[in-house]
Amino acid sequence: MEHIHTIGIPRGLMAYREGILWTEFFKQLGFSCVLSPKSDRSILEEGTARAADETCLPFKMYLGHVQRLMGKCDAVFIPREGGYTAREKMCTRYEALPDLISNIFRDEQIPLLTVSYDWYSKTTEENVYLKLAETLGKSRKEGKKAYAYAKKTQDAWYKAKEKRQLLKLESPGNKVLLAGHPYVLHDACMGGELGKMLEKMGVEVLYTDYVNRKNARKKSYDFSGVIPWLINREIIGASLLLKEKADGIVLVSAYPCGPDSLAGDLLVRRIKDLPVLSLTLDAQNGTAGMETRLESFIDIIKYQKAGGYGIKN
Ligand code: SF4
Repeated sequence: MEHIHTIGIPRGLMAYREGILWTEFFKQLGFSCVLSPKSDRSILEEGTARAADETCLPFKMYLGHVQRLMGKCDAVFIPREGGYTAREKMCTRYEALPDLISNIFRDEQIPLLTVSYDWYSKTTEENVYLKLAETLGKSRKEGKKAYAYAKKTQDAWYKAKEKRQLLKLESPGNKVLLAGHPYVLHDACMGGELGKMLEKMGVEVLYTDYVNRKNARKKSYDFSGVIPWLINREIIGASLLLKEKADGIVLVSAYPCGPDSLAGDLLVRRIKDLPVLSLTLDAQNGTAGMETRLESFIDIIKYQKAGGYGIKN
Protein backbone atom coordinates (compact mmCIF):
# COMPACT_ATOMS: atom_id res chain seq x y z
CA MET A 1 0.00 0.00 0.00
CA GLU A 2 3.01 2.33 -0.46
CA HIS A 3 1.30 4.12 -3.34
CA ILE A 4 -1.47 5.48 -1.09
CA HIS A 5 -1.13 9.14 -0.17
CA THR A 6 -4.68 10.45 -0.39
CA ILE A 7 -7.67 8.59 1.00
CA GLY A 8 -11.19 9.39 -0.20
CA ILE A 9 -14.13 9.36 2.17
CA PRO A 10 -17.65 9.32 0.67
CA ARG A 11 -19.87 11.81 2.52
CA GLY A 12 -22.70 9.40 3.14
CA LEU A 13 -24.03 6.63 5.38
CA MET A 14 -21.95 6.22 8.55
CA ALA A 15 -19.62 9.11 7.67
CA TYR A 16 -22.24 11.18 9.53
CA ARG A 17 -21.52 9.16 12.64
CA GLU A 18 -17.87 8.13 12.39
CA GLY A 19 -16.46 10.48 9.74
CA ILE A 20 -14.37 12.54 12.17
CA LEU A 21 -12.84 9.37 13.61
CA TRP A 22 -11.91 8.19 10.12
CA THR A 23 -10.42 11.42 8.80
CA GLU A 24 -8.49 12.17 11.98
CA PHE A 25 -7.13 8.61 12.10
CA PHE A 26 -5.79 8.80 8.55
CA LYS A 27 -4.43 12.31 9.01
CA GLN A 28 -2.62 11.33 12.20
CA LEU A 29 -0.95 8.52 10.25
CA GLY A 30 0.32 11.06 7.72
CA PHE A 31 -2.23 10.60 4.90
CA SER A 32 -4.30 13.28 3.20
CA CYS A 33 -8.07 12.88 3.20
CA VAL A 34 -10.54 14.07 0.63
CA LEU A 35 -14.22 14.18 1.50
CA SER A 36 -16.75 14.17 -1.33
CA PRO A 37 -18.80 17.41 -1.59
CA LYS A 38 -22.11 18.00 0.18
CA SER A 39 -25.00 16.11 -1.39
CA ASP A 40 -26.97 17.67 -4.21
CA ARG A 41 -29.35 16.45 -6.94
CA SER A 42 -26.52 15.77 -9.41
CA ILE A 43 -24.72 13.48 -6.92
CA LEU A 44 -27.99 11.64 -6.33
CA GLU A 45 -28.57 11.28 -10.07
CA GLU A 46 -25.09 9.83 -10.58
CA GLY A 47 -25.66 7.39 -7.72
CA THR A 48 -29.13 6.44 -8.95
CA ALA A 49 -27.72 5.63 -12.41
CA ARG A 50 -25.40 3.08 -10.76
CA ALA A 51 -27.97 1.55 -8.38
CA ALA A 52 -30.54 -1.21 -8.69
CA ASP A 53 -34.08 0.22 -8.59
CA GLU A 54 -35.01 -1.22 -5.22
CA THR A 55 -31.99 0.33 -3.49
CA CYS A 56 -32.68 2.76 -0.64
CA LEU A 57 -32.18 6.49 -1.17
CA PRO A 58 -29.16 6.86 1.19
CA PHE A 59 -27.32 4.08 -0.64
CA LYS A 60 -28.05 5.69 -4.01
CA MET A 61 -26.65 8.93 -2.63
CA TYR A 62 -23.62 7.06 -1.28
CA LEU A 63 -22.85 5.64 -4.74
CA GLY A 64 -22.91 9.20 -6.11
CA HIS A 65 -20.40 10.21 -3.43
CA VAL A 66 -18.09 7.31 -4.30
CA GLN A 67 -18.33 8.34 -7.95
CA ARG A 68 -17.31 11.91 -7.05
CA LEU A 69 -14.09 10.60 -5.49
CA MET A 70 -12.95 8.89 -8.70
CA GLY A 71 -9.63 10.32 -9.81
CA LYS A 72 -9.30 12.43 -6.66
CA CYS A 73 -7.68 9.90 -4.33
CA ASP A 74 -5.49 6.79 -4.29
CA ALA A 75 -8.00 4.66 -2.36
CA VAL A 76 -11.53 4.99 -1.05
CA PHE A 77 -12.38 4.07 2.54
CA ILE A 78 -15.44 1.79 2.66
CA PRO A 79 -15.94 0.22 6.10
CA ARG A 80 -17.83 -3.02 6.63
CA GLU A 81 -20.16 -2.48 9.56
CA GLY A 82 -21.82 -5.72 10.50
CA GLY A 83 -22.63 -5.17 14.11
CA TYR A 84 -21.54 -3.54 17.28
CA THR A 85 -22.76 -6.10 19.79
CA ALA A 86 -24.50 -9.45 19.47
CA ARG A 87 -27.89 -7.75 19.90
CA GLU A 88 -27.28 -4.49 18.04
CA LYS A 89 -26.53 -4.83 14.38
CA MET A 90 -26.58 -2.74 11.25
CA CYS A 91 -28.84 -3.39 8.30
CA THR A 92 -27.49 -5.99 5.88
CA ARG A 93 -26.37 -3.34 3.38
CA TYR A 94 -23.59 -2.40 5.76
CA GLU A 95 -22.32 -5.94 6.08
CA ALA A 96 -21.79 -6.08 2.33
CA LEU A 97 -20.75 -2.48 1.69
CA PRO A 98 -17.14 -3.03 0.43
CA ASP A 99 -18.33 -5.95 -1.76
CA LEU A 100 -21.19 -3.91 -3.18
CA ILE A 101 -18.91 -0.98 -3.99
CA SER A 102 -16.17 -3.07 -5.58
CA ASN A 103 -18.79 -4.86 -7.68
CA ILE A 104 -20.67 -1.72 -8.75
CA PHE A 105 -17.41 0.10 -9.57
CA ARG A 106 -15.68 -2.97 -11.02
CA ASP A 107 -14.82 -1.24 -14.31
CA GLU A 108 -13.06 1.58 -12.48
CA GLN A 109 -11.17 -0.88 -10.24
CA ILE A 110 -10.75 1.60 -7.44
CA PRO A 111 -8.55 0.41 -4.57
CA LEU A 112 -10.65 0.08 -1.43
CA LEU A 113 -9.52 0.37 2.15
CA THR A 114 -11.76 -1.25 4.67
CA VAL A 115 -12.24 -2.26 8.29
CA SER A 116 -14.66 -4.75 9.74
CA TYR A 117 -16.84 -3.42 12.53
CA ASP A 118 -17.90 -6.90 13.58
CA TRP A 119 -17.22 -6.34 17.22
CA TYR A 120 -19.51 -9.07 18.32
CA SER A 121 -16.88 -11.39 16.88
CA LYS A 122 -14.77 -10.69 19.98
CA THR A 123 -12.65 -7.74 18.98
CA THR A 124 -12.57 -4.06 19.92
CA GLU A 125 -12.80 -0.90 17.89
CA GLU A 126 -9.18 -0.10 18.71
CA ASN A 127 -8.00 -3.48 17.39
CA VAL A 128 -9.93 -2.92 14.18
CA TYR A 129 -8.04 0.34 13.61
CA LEU A 130 -4.66 -1.09 14.64
CA LYS A 131 -5.12 -3.68 11.93
CA LEU A 132 -5.94 -0.94 9.43
CA ALA A 133 -2.79 0.99 10.43
CA GLU A 134 -0.78 -2.18 9.89
CA THR A 135 -2.31 -2.60 6.41
CA LEU A 136 -1.15 0.92 5.66
CA GLY A 137 2.42 0.06 6.70
CA LYS A 138 2.33 1.81 10.08
CA SER A 139 3.56 0.50 13.41
CA ARG A 140 1.32 -0.57 16.27
CA LYS A 141 2.53 2.41 18.29
CA GLU A 142 1.62 4.84 15.47
CA GLY A 143 -1.76 3.15 15.09
CA LYS A 144 -2.52 3.38 18.82
CA LYS A 145 -1.61 7.07 18.94
CA ALA A 146 -3.64 7.88 15.83
CA TYR A 147 -6.69 5.96 17.07
CA ALA A 148 -6.59 7.54 20.54
CA TYR A 149 -6.48 11.04 19.05
CA ALA A 150 -9.17 10.32 16.44
CA LYS A 151 -11.51 8.75 18.98
CA LYS A 152 -11.05 11.65 21.40
CA THR A 153 -11.80 14.17 18.63
CA GLN A 154 -14.90 12.32 17.44
CA ASP A 155 -16.22 11.96 21.02
CA ALA A 156 -15.59 15.64 21.78
CA TRP A 157 -17.57 16.62 18.68
CA TYR A 158 -20.50 14.48 19.82
CA LYS A 159 -20.36 15.80 23.35
CA ALA A 160 -20.51 19.38 22.01
CA LYS A 161 -23.59 18.50 19.94
CA GLU A 162 -25.27 16.86 22.94
CA LYS A 163 -24.49 19.87 25.10
CA ARG A 164 -25.92 22.30 22.55
CA GLN A 165 -29.06 20.23 22.27
CA LEU A 166 -29.48 20.17 26.07
CA LEU A 167 -29.50 23.97 26.00
CA LYS A 168 -32.12 23.95 23.24
CA LEU A 169 -34.38 21.81 25.45
CA GLU A 170 -34.77 24.75 27.81
CA SER A 171 -35.94 27.09 25.05
CA PRO A 172 -39.54 28.34 25.58
CA GLY A 173 -40.47 28.12 21.86
CA ASN A 174 -41.90 25.20 19.89
CA LYS A 175 -39.52 22.27 19.64
CA VAL A 176 -39.68 19.54 17.03
CA LEU A 177 -37.64 16.36 17.23
CA LEU A 178 -36.34 15.12 13.87
CA ALA A 179 -36.04 11.36 14.26
CA GLY A 180 -34.10 9.25 11.77
CA HIS A 181 -30.77 7.84 10.67
CA PRO A 182 -27.98 10.44 10.99
CA TYR A 183 -27.17 10.16 7.27
CA VAL A 184 -30.78 11.00 6.44
CA LEU A 185 -31.20 13.77 9.02
CA HIS A 186 -28.02 15.67 8.16
CA ASP A 187 -27.64 15.06 4.43
CA ALA A 188 -27.96 18.41 2.65
CA CYS A 189 -30.43 16.94 0.15
CA MET A 190 -32.56 15.00 2.65
CA GLY A 191 -33.20 15.88 6.30
CA GLY A 192 -30.86 18.89 6.09
CA GLU A 193 -33.51 20.65 4.00
CA LEU A 194 -36.28 19.71 6.43
CA GLY A 195 -34.25 21.11 9.34
CA LYS A 196 -33.81 24.40 7.47
CA MET A 197 -37.54 24.58 6.68
CA LEU A 198 -38.44 24.09 10.34
CA GLU A 199 -35.93 26.68 11.48
CA LYS A 200 -37.43 29.16 9.00
CA MET A 201 -40.81 28.49 10.62
CA GLY A 202 -39.29 29.61 13.92
CA VAL A 203 -39.09 26.14 15.43
CA GLU A 204 -36.23 24.80 17.58
CA VAL A 205 -35.03 21.60 15.88
CA LEU A 206 -33.83 18.65 17.97
CA TYR A 207 -32.16 15.53 16.57
CA THR A 208 -32.32 11.92 17.76
CA ASP A 209 -28.59 11.44 17.15
CA TYR A 210 -27.58 14.32 19.41
CA VAL A 211 -28.75 12.44 22.49
CA ASN A 212 -26.33 10.34 24.55
CA ARG A 213 -26.32 7.20 22.41
CA LYS A 214 -25.65 4.78 25.24
CA ASN A 215 -28.60 6.11 27.22
CA ALA A 216 -30.80 6.03 24.13
CA ARG A 217 -29.95 2.40 23.40
CA LYS A 218 -30.60 1.45 27.03
CA LYS A 219 -33.96 3.24 26.96
CA SER A 220 -34.94 1.44 23.75
CA TYR A 221 -35.09 -1.86 25.67
CA ASP A 222 -38.08 -0.48 27.62
CA PHE A 223 -39.77 -0.41 24.24
CA SER A 224 -38.61 -3.67 22.67
CA GLY A 225 -36.20 -6.44 23.57
CA VAL A 226 -36.02 -7.84 20.06
CA ILE A 227 -35.45 -4.99 17.57
CA PRO A 228 -32.07 -5.97 16.10
CA TRP A 229 -30.91 -2.69 14.51
CA LEU A 230 -28.55 -0.44 16.40
CA ILE A 231 -29.51 2.88 14.82
CA ASN A 232 -33.24 2.20 15.07
CA ARG A 233 -32.70 1.45 18.76
CA GLU A 234 -31.02 4.84 19.12
CA ILE A 235 -33.86 6.57 17.26
CA ILE A 236 -36.50 4.90 19.44
CA GLY A 237 -34.59 5.44 22.71
CA ALA A 238 -33.84 9.09 21.95
CA SER A 239 -37.50 9.71 20.99
CA LEU A 240 -38.63 8.23 24.31
CA LEU A 241 -36.05 10.24 26.24
CA LEU A 242 -36.99 13.52 24.55
CA LYS A 243 -40.75 13.16 24.19
CA GLU A 244 -41.48 15.13 27.36
CA LYS A 245 -39.40 18.05 26.10
CA ALA A 246 -40.44 18.08 22.44
CA ASP A 247 -43.78 19.43 21.16
CA GLY A 248 -43.86 17.07 18.19
CA ILE A 249 -41.83 14.38 16.43
CA VAL A 250 -41.12 14.21 12.72
CA LEU A 251 -40.06 10.69 11.78
CA VAL A 252 -37.91 10.92 8.66
CA SER A 253 -37.33 7.80 6.64
CA ALA A 254 -35.77 7.20 3.25
CA TYR A 255 -37.55 4.91 0.81
CA PRO A 256 -37.36 1.90 0.86
CA CYS A 257 -35.94 1.15 4.31
CA GLY A 258 -37.01 -2.14 5.92
CA PRO A 259 -35.74 -1.34 9.44
CA ASP A 260 -37.44 2.08 9.42
CA SER A 261 -40.76 0.76 8.17
CA LEU A 262 -40.98 -1.66 11.09
CA ALA A 263 -39.42 0.42 13.88
CA GLY A 264 -41.11 3.67 12.75
CA ASP A 265 -44.53 2.07 12.67
CA LEU A 266 -44.04 0.62 16.17
CA LEU A 267 -42.95 4.01 17.48
CA VAL A 268 -45.96 5.83 15.98
CA ARG A 269 -48.27 3.31 17.68
CA ARG A 270 -46.50 3.74 21.03
CA ILE A 271 -46.32 7.54 21.22
CA LYS A 272 -49.87 8.60 21.95
CA ASP A 273 -49.43 11.87 23.79
CA LEU A 274 -47.52 13.84 21.15
CA PRO A 275 -48.20 14.76 17.51
CA VAL A 276 -46.08 12.57 15.21
CA LEU A 277 -45.59 13.17 11.49
CA SER A 278 -44.07 10.44 9.31
CA LEU A 279 -42.25 11.60 6.21
CA THR A 280 -40.70 9.29 3.64
CA LEU A 281 -38.18 10.75 1.22
CA ASP A 282 -37.58 9.10 -2.13
CA ALA A 283 -35.14 9.57 -4.99
CA GLN A 284 -37.77 11.04 -7.36
CA ASN A 285 -39.35 13.67 -5.17
CA GLY A 286 -36.79 14.35 -2.44
CA THR A 287 -38.24 16.98 -0.10
CA ALA A 288 -40.71 18.42 -2.66
CA GLY A 289 -44.08 19.16 -1.06
CA MET A 290 -42.72 18.63 2.44
CA GLU A 291 -42.86 22.32 3.39
CA THR A 292 -46.66 22.37 3.33
CA ARG A 293 -46.85 19.21 5.43
CA LEU A 294 -44.44 20.66 7.97
CA GLU A 295 -46.42 23.91 8.12
CA SER A 296 -49.63 22.02 8.84
CA PHE A 297 -47.83 19.99 11.48
CA ILE A 298 -46.58 23.13 13.22
CA ASP A 299 -50.16 24.48 13.16
CA ILE A 300 -51.34 21.27 14.87
CA ILE A 301 -48.66 21.69 17.54
CA LYS A 302 -49.73 25.30 18.12
CA TYR A 303 -53.43 24.34 18.40
CA GLN A 304 -52.59 21.52 20.79
CA LYS A 305 -50.53 23.79 22.99
CA ALA A 306 -53.37 26.30 23.02
CA GLY A 307 -55.72 23.63 24.40
CA GLY A 308 -56.67 21.57 21.37
CA TYR A 309 -59.16 21.87 18.52
CA GLY A 310 -62.06 21.35 20.89
CA ILE A 311 -61.40 24.45 22.96
CA LYS A 312 -64.51 26.47 23.87
CA ASN A 313 -64.56 30.21 23.25
S1 SF4 B 1 -31.04 1.10 7.39
FE1 SF4 B 1 -32.48 1.64 5.78
S2 SF4 B 1 -31.75 3.63 4.98
FE2 SF4 B 1 -30.07 2.69 6.14
S3 SF4 B 1 -28.87 1.58 4.61
FE3 SF4 B 1 -30.34 0.11 5.51
S4 SF4 B 1 -32.13 0.18 4.12
FE4 SF4 B 1 -30.87 2.00 3.71
